[in-house]
Amino acid sequence: MSADKPIYVTQPFLPPLDDFIPYLREIWDAKVLTNGGPFHQRLEAALVEHLGIKHLSLFTNGTLGLLTALQTLQVTGEVITTPYSFAATAHSVMWNNLTPVFADIDPITCNLTPESIEQAITPRTTAIMPVHCYGTPCDVDRIQQIADTHGLKVIYDAAHAFGVRYRGESLLNHGDLSVLSFHATKVYTTLEGGAIVCADAATKKRIDHLKNFGFANEVTVLAAGINGKMNEVQAALGLLQLTHVDRLIARRAQIASLYDEGLRSLDGIRLPFRLPDTQPNHSYYPIFIGSGFPVGRDAVYARLREQSVYARRYFYPLLSDMPMYRDLPSAAPEHLPHAAKAAREVLCLPIYPALPDDDVMRVIELIRSCRAG
Ligand SMILES: *Cc1c(COP(=O)(O)O)cnc(C)c1O
Repeated sequence: MSADKPIYVTQPFLPPLDDFIPYLREIWDAKVLTNGGPFHQRLEAALVEHLGIKHLSLFTNGTLGLLTALQTLQVTGEVITTPYSFAATAHSVMWNNLTPVFADIDPITCNLTPESIEQAITPRTTAIMPVHCYGTPCDVDRIQQIADTHGLKVIYDAAHAFGVRYRGESLLNHGDLSVLSFHATKVYTTLEGGAIVCADAATKKRIDHLKNFGFANEVTVLAAGINGKMNEVQAALGLLQLTHVDRLIARRAQIASLYDEGLRSLDGIRLPFRLPDTQPNHSYYPIFIGSGFPVGRDAVYARLREQSVYARRYFYPLLSDMPMYRDLPSAAPEHLPHAAKAAREVLCLPIYPALPDDDVMRVIELIRSCRAG
């Protein structure tokens, strides 16, 4: 057990290269490289089946999915969203010339609260963009109620939520649209990639136009769409990855249990929240280092780094503290106390399928040793 071997917060799973060669050969033979080719179609169908959803449209990455989701629903004015997320969430709002309005999160789930969403509604609000943070389901029923009452659209940033099931069905079946990311750091990856999930064929058609420059056919351009198409090599890799993903999530669950065991007894450390009636994907293992722990989060973060353990502060800094957002009225820190506290206390520990038990134990021991100062 060498103290110097670096342990990163995540590491992508790649299938054996030999397993991928036949897929590549098929693409080389067919010479169809993109534009909704056979692997693209097969992966869309396979993901619909695997996830238990109605329709899905593949994208180059999750960010273009978010961007296009807002265009699909013709969102205008203000979009209520969370400051406790990755930059892409608010950036996609900004790229559409819309105004992000930040609302506070629940201190336990780290998701937007229905109360804070309601308080943020103005006459200009047209949509809500919540994040299922760490794959924990948002309060989907109350968010839908608010949306129905006020005539708002709901777009879930579901980048963390691949495969999460809630009350016996896919979490992605909530809201008007859900957007997935298949980035290399995510539970299920196509290197870069993403998708929009929707409930009806007409909406999927519109999404498919928008991700292909707005083309409806060779001569008809319906909107100023973007190029968001996933290519055949990545779609083929996605098909192969899909045959492994259940096993990968099961291994993540084992790692999460090891952390639970090893860290449960530590005063001042709060372990990841698990919502009842939810089948999680263990995409992240966030711990929250509160004032009851002898040293602060940043001291633990630094101590781990000294020992080549690269835990990450997801999410710090808050989006509302970034220079392009911090002057918004909704970005005022006193308006977002729970998000600010989570950003101060969170540390996401290494979790990925190939992480050996020994390394998990090493991380646990390092955290325990922080108590000695
Ligand atoms: C990863 C991520 C994204 C962006 O996805 P990309 O595929 O990298 O563009 C968006 N939102 C959240 C919350 C993410 O974690």
